[in-house]
Amino acid sequence: MQKILILGGTTEASHLARHLADCGTNAIFSYAGRTNAPRSQPLPTRVGGFGGVAGLVAYIHAEKITHIVDATHPFAAQMSQNALLAVAQTRTPLISFERAPWAAKTGDNWQHVADYPGVLKALGETAQRVFLAIGKQNIDLFATAPQHHYLLRLVDPPESIIPLPSHTVEIAAGPFDLAGDLALLKRHHIDVIVTKNAGGIGARAKLDAARDLGLRVIVMDRPPLMGRQIMQSQQDVLAWLHQDAAQSF
Ligand code: NAP
Repeated sequence: MQKILILGGTTEASHLARHLADCGTNAIFSYAGRTNAPRSQPLPTRVGGFGGVAGLVAYIHAEKITHIVDATHPFAAQMSQNALLAVAQTRTPLISFERAPWAAKTGDNWQHVADYPGVLKALGETAQRVFLAIGKQNIDLFATAPQHHYLLRLVDPPESIIPLPSHTVEIAAGPFDLAGDLALLKRHHIDVIVTKNAGGIGARAKLDAARDLGLRVIVMDRPPLMGRQIMQSQQDVLAWLHQDAAQSF
């Protein structure tokens, strides 16, 4: 009998969980535990790291996991890498469910960078009003560029002092829409947006708002991860799960 482990943290993971629950599929949902109140799931849910590759291997054995769907965020590279290494040991079938990256449209003013040093270089020396749309991790890296004012949009209020001399925090959880993001960018007189190329629709509005306002966007490209089998639609993931299961989804 199948027992599926969903590595979550994305809208796509939640949609898949809903579908599997509706079908009565035997599955477990896993959160890293980064947010205070993660969206509740219609599946049995575990929260927190597994303890590296060895911990995940032990978990797969203990829970008799037969299939893993890595539906983590495209920038959650450590978890994805750990999953690859763990299933190499346990021989558990693994699929990466990853939404397509965003692509620039006519009128977009995007500058692609590979990493955080690239972002800092692209921001430059002249003071800017920056919408730093990267979540709460790695914000401290921007302390080396204190000339800029940073707008941070966070899911939870910060638990520690943000080491940026000039910043504003907005507490909000997606999905976001164009009208709201246009208003946000205008209200804070933003010059430039920094974003990861997350893909999907929930965080796309800021890019459309940037195009409407003629703003520059610094886009961090996804970290390269070798050896993954990637599927971009839920339909394909379900077909993959179907291959080994007699049950109907
Ligand atoms: P990461 O750097 O790839 O993972 C760091 C560690 O967190 C992993 O080694 C693992 O700990 C634990 N972990 C990550 N995802 C997990 C999951 N779904 N279930 C159980 N443990 C998990 O990940 P991250 O970038 O910190 O992201 C953490 C979570 O937030 C992910 O689930 C991701 O989907 C979500 N998220 C990330 C971003 C982003 O920009 N990175 C944005 C939105 C949502 P152990 O080694 O102890 O197993």
